[in-house]
Amino acid sequence: MASRYKNETKHFTRIKCGRCRKVYHIENMINELLKQEAVPGDKRYGYVSVCTCGYVFHKDKWLKRTRITANGVEIDVSSVFLEMSHISFDNDDVMWYESMLFINERQLDLAGAECNYQNRYRTKKEAVKDHNRLVKLVRAGKFKVEMHGGKRYVDVQ
Ligand SMILES: [Zn+2]
Repeated sequence: MASRYKNETKHFTRIKCGRCRKVYHIENMINELLKQEAVPGDKRYGYVSVCTCGYVFHKDKWLKRTRITANGVEIDVSSVFLEMSHISFDNDDVMWYESMLFINERQLDLAGAECNYQNRYRTKKEAVKDHNRLVKLVRAGKFKVEMHGGKRYVDVQ
């Protein structure tokens, strides 16, 4: 199957610190960075990497979530710093942020939900701007929930 990405060499090969913005190649990250227990004192949960600046990957990443009830549906607008390099859906650019829409799991029937609106951005500023746009649209009821192949999708209109 053909890749959806035009430039595989940039996809998932770099990781960026959310504090000092240092970019590591994934092999270097594994070898060079300090590790700490994901749950202190309990090795069963594995380890997370720590940047030289003290930023703890995964734990310290920026996340903005807004829960909205509209048209009887609970929807989360979720925007996140990805840490891992993702290639844009549209071009070769590396994207570091992503926004998505989710239907609250408590409202799901057995059909379940899949993703959903998804967009990627170069900068936090772009991510926040689109997050706010999505919140406005969902609050105004300008979204649709559809079934495709037994899964539920939510998208803005
Ligand atoms: Zn750092």
